[in-house]
Amino acid sequence: MSTDQQDDSDTQIDVAEGIDHQVAMVMDLNKCIGCQTCTIACKTLWTEDGGSEYMYWNNVETKPGAGYPRGWEDSGGGWQSGEHSERQPGEIPDQEDYGRAWEFNHSEIMYEGSDEPLRPREGAEWGPNWDEDEGAGEYPNSYYFYLPRICNHCTHPSCVEACPRSALYKREEDGIVLVDQERCRGYRYCVEGCPYKKVYYNTVSKKSEKCIFCYPRIEGEGPDGQTYAPACAEECPPQLRLVGFLDDEQGPIYKLVEEYEVALPLHPEFQTQPNVYYIPPFAPPQHTEDGETVDVDRIPRQYLEQLFGEGIDQALDTIERHRQRIERGGESELMEILQDKNPAKQYRLEVFDDG
Ligand code: SF4
Ligand code: SF4
Repeated sequence: MSTDQQDDSDTQIDVAEGIDHQVAMVMDLNKCIGCQTCTIACKTLWTEDGGSEYMYWNNVETKPGAGYPRGWEDSGGGWQSGEHSERQPGEIPDQEDYGRAWEFNHSEIMYEGSDEPLRPREGAEWGPNWDEDEGAGEYPNSYYFYLPRICNHCTHPSCVEACPRSALYKREEDGIVLVDQERCRGYRYCVEGCPYKKVYYNTVSKKSEKCIFCYPRIEGEGPDGQTYAPACAEECPPQLRLVGFLDDEQGPIYKLVEEYEVALPLHPEFQTQPNVYYIPPFAPPQHTEDGETVDVDRIPRQYLEQLFGEGIDQALDTIERHRQRIERGGESELMEILQDKNPAKQYRLEVFDDG
């Protein structure tokens, strides 16, 4: 623990009962270029085995869009209220809603001299980020942005509550939500219960699997014993993810979420209290057909409010105020945090490493 760390009892942070600290991530949506490097980093590290071909523990979808699995935002799950006494009924998505893991004609092209274009062997009808870059709005005011998603390692995880065998659990030391593969019997109540659809069923092992926040990396289990942030964060070319603890009051995550209130949870109305937060996207104002600028939001605030809740107005206004301050030659800690590329500040994973 760092010397200036305050005692837990002093913090305002709502860390789940029985949890010492809560690991968290902030993603700045203004920097995401939709390259899917994070998706591939996660895929190649954790979900290459049989039965997990269709799984993307990290996925990046285009918003507005149906997402992955298709229609997940309307699939139910979560809690009825902030009391967390009654769960909201949810659905298990169809395999078609995730999309099939297509096989491609690599061997024909690479070894048999075929000059066909690279394509799936079977007819492709839906897949992760199928509606890539489509977005919404009419020319010249169409818009879209990318939304990277992982399990939110929620403070009140409805997936944990849904499991009758207590196979899902929230780790005491950092709040990471995991599936005990020994206890899991593949009932899929967790898949139904998660409103973000971030638990996946493996049809080969007959168990559920999910994002593990790369816990072996943050525990320093690599060859050199060093601590690393999750692969999705480390591999991201524009470095838009901050990783650390929500209750680290000296860290950027605490400042963005609690002090400046510019990092917002996705769909707070699901009531699971996510620990992944987003800096909402900005877009240029609208234009007339003649190219004149008009003072109207290109991305409707109402849509952003649907995604990130009521805090959206205040968050966007705060960021805008600080941007203007910089334009006038002033200083802003908020802008400094959002632009900082120092890994020691982006990834603060050892501050509570006190056994
Ligand atoms: S996002 Fe879903 S799977 Fe992850 S902790 Fe929350 S409820 Fe559970
Ligand atoms: S690697 Fe970074 S920029 Fe690329 S899609 Fe993922 S989050 Fe976005």
